[in-house]
Amino acid sequence: MLAFVAHLVVLTVLIWVATTALYFLGGFVILAYARRHPERKIQQRADGEARAREEIWESLRSIVVTSFCMALAICLSLFGLTLWSPMEGWIGVLAGAAILILGYDFWFYWAHRLLHTKRLIRFHRWHHRSRAPTVWSTDSQGFVETAMIQSWLVLAAVLLPIPPLAFVLHRLYDHINGQLGHCGYEFFASRSTRAPSPLVCTTYHDQHHELYNWNYGNFTSIWDRLGGTLHPDYDRAVARREDHAEATEKTPAE
Ligand SMILES: [Zn+2]
Ligand SMILES: [Zn+2]
Repeated sequence: MLAFVAHLVVLTVLIWVATTALYFLGGFVILAYARRHPERKIQQRADGEARAREEIWESLRSIVVTSFCMALAICLSLFGLTLWSPMEGWIGVLAGAAILILGYDFWFYWAHRLLHTKRLIRFHRWHHRSRAPTVWSTDSQGFVETAMIQSWLVLAAVLLPIPPLAFVLHRLYDHINGQLGHCGYEFFASRSTRAPSPLVCTTYHDQHHELYNWNYGNFTSIWDRLGGTLHPDYDRAVARREDHAEATEKTPAE
């Protein structure tokens, strides 16, 4: 028991340090690049960065919950407190990460829809204080909503044969996707991010912050399309940005 708790505490601290480092590194790199392309800004008149200080502070706190959930999932796996033995080898790690990512996409969609109900919206309001999200917004959320969303990792660790390293790959993917998805600048609009493709670009979650009751998903638009919650203009908005980006590239710089 003592060994389990010691592992849990040490891992939580290590994951918090690594995630926080990634948060600042990713944030400054994306921001530096994005500022050189002001024409790519999605909500041109909004100043999302005005709330950067508050968002960073809240993120440092919510990453504690994210790190704890991930550490708990890994410890359960390391100590064999799961229904199945983890899959072995690199194939097992990659398969585990793929299962985590696909399962999280489904989990996130429904947890997010629940967070928009009358009873639970109070736990999600903080995240929506940024109508124009920035790189600092992705982890800017309360403890309860973070626990609701990240508890998927603990459930997956107990019920599925996920190797510990797969949780690391999932965290990396989730973090990078979250920071790019909140960055407020569109660099990924293309045919592969609109119908019939299930992939999404930054406009997808940006619309969620701007227009509120649409686009609840995370990695893909699958569940929004099936649930009728995809914003009716999403596919057209992506096509417009795609055309705009092409036109800008063809126009020689003055
Ligand atoms: Zn929301
Ligand atoms: Zn968001």
